[in-house]
Amino acid sequence: MTADILKIEHLSYSYHNLSGETAALSDLSFTVKKGEFLAIVGPSGCGKSTILSLIAGLLSPEEGGITFYGQNGRRPGIGYMLQHDHLFEWRNIWKNVTLGLEIQHKLTPENRRRVEKMLKDYGLEGFAKKKPSELSGGMRQRAALIRTLALEPEILLLDEPFSALDYQTRLTVSADIARIIRAAGKTAILITHDLSEAVSLSDRVLVLSRRPACVKAEFPIRLTLPDNSLLAARMAPEYTRYFNQIWEELSNENE
Ligand code: ADP
Ligand code: MG
Repeated sequence: MTADILKIEHLSYSYHNLSGETAALSDLSFTVKKGEFLAIVGPSGCGKSTILSLIAGLLSPEEGGITFYGQNGRRPGIGYMLQHDHLFEWRNIWKNVTLGLEIQHKLTPENRRRVEKMLKDYGLEGFAKKKPSELSGGMRQRAALIRTLALEPEILLLDEPFSALDYQTRLTVSADIARIIRAAGKTAILITHDLSEAVSLSDRVLVLSRRPACVKAEFPIRLTLPDNSLLAARMAPEYTRYFNQIWEELSNENE
């Protein structure tokens, strides 16, 4: 039995501004195991991004709590990947992927070697000196992932990171990135509105209710795969059943 790395208990959060109050989360509870790949789906505007902002510590819970169980009892390092890769056009790819290390004064020879290896492993070896605009959308997203992994986070928060990619690129890049995250043994929370992506990439899918979000249903995903290819996950015999069950849960929410 793997240990929990994150536990969210009875979490509530509302936004307050001049026009009033927007309740985003209400009594939300779930746990994430170390090394797990969790996908979260839910109606648009239900509070998904708010959950990640709370986990990242960018917002503070109004009620309830978030508990972390990192290595040696420390708060785990958290990496955040968004829909837009936020690569800086005035820095080359090397300068982009090492930006976090540079800011934190951690650009040691060892860390340089680690980042060089990632560029090589993830097919960007010859692109270190290129500008972001010279890369394809998929390569840019891989560069953004390397920049995130460079800081060695234990938990990766992925907020619809593939939404800006065209469909075909998205299929391969999402599978690539999930494979890299799994190989690195990281814990990941992926927010997506693409149910097939959720089913094919994750170990478990949480379905959220309409705003204010709470957990409506939970589906542990077990696919029989002919090989380890995440692309083949969409051909697994169980795939359609999971897809339809999740679709049904979501449709009830959207009515
Ligand atoms: P999702 O990511 O599921 O689409 P969000 O977590 O971004 O949803 O937002 C949840 C709700 O909170 C939405 O109704 C949104 O309009 C509202 N909201 C998000 N950010 C703010 C903010 N800074 N101020 C006021 N309301 C906000
Ligand atoms: Mg969002």
